[in-house]
Amino acid sequence: MKKSNWATGLITTLNDPINHVISTEIGVVIKDKYPKAKHHFLVLPKDDIPSIFHLKPSHLDLLYELHLLSINVIEVTNCQRDDFKIGFHAQPSMQRLHLHVISKDFVSPCLKTKKHWNSFNTKLFVPFDDLVDNLKKNGRIEKMGIEYIKTLELTELKCNQCNYKTKTVPDLKKHLLNHLEKSESECIDYTVNKKI
Ligand code: AMP
Ligand code: ZN
Repeated sequence: MKKSNWATGLITTLNDPINHVISTEIGVVIKDKYPKAKHHFLVLPKDDIPSIFHLKPSHLDLLYELHLLSINVIEVTNCQRDDFKIGFHAQPSMQRLHLHVISKDFVSPCLKTKKHWNSFNTKLFVPFDDLVDNLKKNGRIEKMGIEYIKTLELTELKCNQCNYKTKTVPDLKKHLLNHLEKSESECIDYTVNKKI
């Protein structure tokens, strides 16, 4: 039996069906316990694949199934596919392969650090299609160099929705909230001519 520690927390969450937003024979969708946006899900295989670095081309069908689950969970939120990023962290910290499905607003009290922001908004985030292309081309996923990871973590803070740049996370968070409030106020159901 595996020792449980912080890095195995996802497996603990996965093992309790109460946490399953969607479950199939192949994979499970759970809510991220520390969501970094309004909607943040994780899609995990039931098979014990520890990380992206254990993937082989023979896992491609499994990956497509996990991607389908991420599309399914986006439908459950009533949002559009385009409102979400779907991908993997280049340097994951938790055990068991997991696909992040995260809304692009990035409005959440759990988003606290530059590292959090940059882990989803620089090359530290590997879009699903890029990972699949990589796996097909190289037969495996290679680790990024430590120095490159550090540089990416320290990238200056840039808004993902406009050209705004800032030095502090609180500033960025205020700015992101403006985008969200604006998009929500523009969300009008024209069929009945009222806000939804
Ligand atoms: P990664 O950096 O890709 O390994 O991300 C791990 C993700 O798991 C983070 O977004 C965390 O917020 C999330 N997380 C950490 N512990 C748990 C847990 N016990 N259950 C669900 N999600 C978790
Ligand atoms: Zn902006």
